[in-house]
This record gives sequence, structure tokens and C-alpha cells, in this order.
Amino acid sequence: MKLPILSIDDVSSSQLCTGCGVCAAVEPGRFRMADAEGIGRRPFLVDDPARETDDALKICPGASLQHTFDETDPGFDRSLRASWGPVYEVWEGHATDPGIRHAGSSGGASTALALWALERGHMHGVLHTTADPETPYLNTTVMSRSRDDLLTTSGSRYAPASPAEGLPIVLDAPAPCVFIGKPCDVAAVQQARRQNAALHEKLGLVIAFFCAGTPSTQATLDLMKQEGVADPATVTSLRYRGNGWPGEWVVQWNDNGTPREARLSYADSWDFLQRSRQWRCYICPDHSGEFADIAVGDPWYRPTAEVQPGSSLLIARTRRGVEILHKARDEGYLTLTTRDHSMLPRSQPNLLKTRGRLWGQLLALRFAGKPTPLYTGFPTFHRFIRLAPRAQAQSLLGTLGRYRRHLDKALALQTPDKQKETP
Ligand SMILES: Cc1cc2nc3c(=O)[nH]c(=O)nc-3n(C[C@H](O)[C@H](O)[C@H](O)COP(=O)(O)OP(=O)(O)OC[C@H]3O[C@@H](n4cnc5c(N)ncnc54)[C@H](O)[C@@H]3O)c2cc1C
Ligand code: SF4
Ligand code: SF4
Repeated sequence: MKLPILSIDDVSSSQLCTGCGVCAAVEPGRFRMADAEGIGRRPFLVDDPARETDDALKICPGASLQHTFDETDPGFDRSLRASWGPVYEVWEGHATDPGIRHAGSSGGASTALALWALERGHMHGVLHTTADPETPYLNTTVMSRSRDDLLTTSGSRYAPASPAEGLPIVLDAPAPCVFIGKPCDVAAVQQARRQNAALHEKLGLVIAFFCAGTPSTQATLDLMKQEGVADPATVTSLRYRGNGWPGEWVVQWNDNGTPREARLSYADSWDFLQRSRQWRCYICPDHSGEFADIAVGDPWYRPTAEVQPGSSLLIARTRRGVEILHKARDEGYLTLTTRDHSMLPRSQPNLLKTRGRLWGQLLALRFAGKPTPLYTGFPTFHRFIRLAPRAQAQSLLGTLGRYRRHLDKALALQTPDKQKETP
């Protein structure tokens, strides 16, 4: 019998939290987001917290995810539905603006779409993530209003971020806004707008990027140390990639008055960081932004050089997404080069295996009585049976050991108010 999840505390203490931040947006009288040492962004109790309602729990992606799109819509590609969610169009492309294309993580497509929304789509701002100006190895949530803002905030940050905590800013905005986040952030936002008509009206465009998982802040600190940063307080800038595709991990710091810099390839830095992904990422059903209007990823189907002009894979997942993609292209913000639905599975074959393993992982956890999120509308068995027998066995037998290791690591953090914040 699996344990029930009855509160946000249950989500957090059982390591099902994605760190999205929507609970702090919906119940600010009880929760605030902060970086829990070694784990990720987590909800902490505010001083003198209000009683918990179930408003946050109902939309928390750590507790449940539910697809509600119209399965009878003839517009989406039925051959991709089971493994990739709703897919209307798949394109390769990039930002037409060379500065945005260069700065962006893949081809700057997310930033180009956001700029279209600000300059042509009559939207007010873009709620998303950037480096904390005071502590560049941490992330913060911001509302960008201009091309300059968007250039500063472009680029993936392979560290915890909670953009959904900023939803009250969207709610207060004078016009609809763009939201950009990981698939779990986007799922949280879409679940929140179903409960709140005013918020629904204020979300003009929702963009997700593909996501294999969020590494902990500790992983970034360890990598900086390995590359020569003796004191994280001396860091002046940290980029994980971008400035060419796939770009490099670059840290800059002040060494007793001397500016210093260290660089690593995208592959080497990701290989280091990904070992510390939070537990929820191992049992995530949505790595490709199934709840977004438009999802953006890397077109990994093509061989990459160390640094080359950027390119993005774009998936229109709603009719609104299709419309905006076409407008952004026609109005000169986005260059779309190739339309080919097979680019999606060819670019991300690892995500198909991940989906297959999920069936075995959830079965093992439920069988052992461990808490699991409730996922509705995410078929997985069809991918499980295509896995090699060894991978099937691993997903069934290796899961509990991995869960135990994650729980042990977080043992001191059993309830949100007892978690230690990163100083
Ligand atoms: C943790 C993580 C894992 C990823 N895993 C994969 C993967 O497995 N496969 C794949 O194809 N792509 C993955 N990506 C996405 C990829 O790195 C690019 O972000 C994506 O291709 C979009 O590129 P772009 O040039 O359009 O983005 P840009 O135009 O550079 O814009 C990036 C946007 O992402 C936002 N952002 C950056 N970091 C975060 C964060 N941590 N949380 C929330 N928002 C953030 C920024 O605010 C910005 O708006 C991952 C990204 C992250 C952050
Ligand atoms: S997944 Fe999001 S809503 Fe749920 S507990 Fe974590 S931060 Fe809060
Ligand atoms: S893998 Fe899933 S749960 Fe983890 S950060 Fe990415 S979208 Fe969120």
C-alpha cells in the first residue's frame, strides 16, 4: 500500500518536490521558497505560518500531474501522443536576431519568442529565471520587460530555480505575460491557471524547455571548487552554456583583486552536475514540456562541434503555440528552417528510454509502499516493453536503492521548517 501525500510537507519530506515554487505563490502566508542545502529549492515555512489549505497541494506537480488537453483534437500528431504528449508541429530553428541566437542556450528560440511577445504580441513581461546578481551561483525569479533584460537572462542554468513563485507578479501585471520554465514549472503554472480564471487571462504564452533534471546547488559549488574557485563569495559571473552551441560552462571570480576565469565544455560540466539531480527528476514523466504552448530543446540529432551557431528544436503543443510560432517567424523574430516530426525522437532517444523506465520505477515504489505522485495521461508501459531486459530489471530492482540513498541524504531535512538553507 502506498503512503498517501496529504500536505506540501509530505511532498517535500518524501523528496517528491520539484522546487517549482507554485505553493509559495498560492499560499504565501505559509510558504516561501529558498535553497535547501545540497538538495534544491524547497518550500520553507514563513514566520507565524497560516494553516495549510489544500490550494497548493491540488496543483503541486510533486503530488500529481494531469493531462486535460482535448484528446479528440484532430490537429495533433497521434503517432507521437503516447511518448511525447500533444505535438502539433516540430521545427528546427533559431532566433533571427544574431545576438539572441549567440547568447541563447540552444538557438535562443525561447528568448526570441519572448521578445516577439513583448514587441508584437502586446504582452507585458516575461516571468523566468536568471542568475542572482548578488550570488551568481544561485538563481532568482525575474520579470523581464525588454530585449536587454532578455539578453541578460538567456541561457540555461543547471541549478535549482523556482519561477512559478513569481505568479503573483503575473497576476498583478496590466497585460498578459509570458512564462518560461522547466516542464514541472510549466505544469504547475498550467495547473494553477485551471483554478484561477484571472491568472488564466494573464498568461499569454507558456514556454517550456526540455529537461533531463535539475542538479543541486551543491554540485555547482563542488564544480567551482574543482576548477579553482576557493571561495564561492568571490564569484562574479557563472554561465552554464550559451554564447555558441552548445556553449561552455564559464565561471569568473575575483582572486584577491585579480580577475580569474575557468571554462569547461558543456559535455564535461553536465556530466559532473547531472550526478546530483534531485529525486523527483528520476521519476519525472514529462521531460519535454507537454503542458506548454511551445517547448524548446536541443536538436541533438545533429553532431555538435564545441561551439557553433545555435539551433533549437521547437515543438508547438497547442493551437495557440502554432499560431505564435508562425507569427514570430512571419514577423522576423524566429527563423524556422526545417519541419520534420521525426526530429523529436531522433533528437532525444534518451527520453524515450526514460519514459520506459518510469513504468518499472513507479511499480517498484508503489509495491514497496513508498510515496509516488499521481500521473494521469502519461502512458509508459508501451516504452517499458521496448527496453532491453537488463534495463527493465534495473528499473524494477534498482529504484528502491536509489530512493533510499536520496532519502538518507535528505534525512536531516524531514520537514520544510527544519531544512537548512544554503547560506
Ligand atoms: C536543468 C535543465 C535541464 C535541461 N535538460 C535538457 C535536455 O535534457 N535536453 C534538451 O534538449 N534540453 C535540455 N535543457 C534545455 C536547453 O538547455 C535549452 O534551455 C533549450 O534548448 C532552450 O534553449 P533556448 O536557446 O531557446 O533558450 P534561451 O533563449 O537561452 O532561454 C533560456 C530560458 O530558460 C530559462 N531558464 C534557464 N535556466 C532555468 C532553470 N533552471 N529553471 C527555469 N528556467 C530556466 C531562462 O530564464 C530563459 O528564459 C535543459 C535546461 C535546463 C535548465
Ligand atoms: S513541487 Fe512545487 S508546489 Fe509542490 S512542494 Fe515543491 S515547490 Fe511546492
Ligand atoms: S526532470 Fe522533471 S521534475 Fe526534474 S526539473 Fe526537469 S521537469 Fe522538473
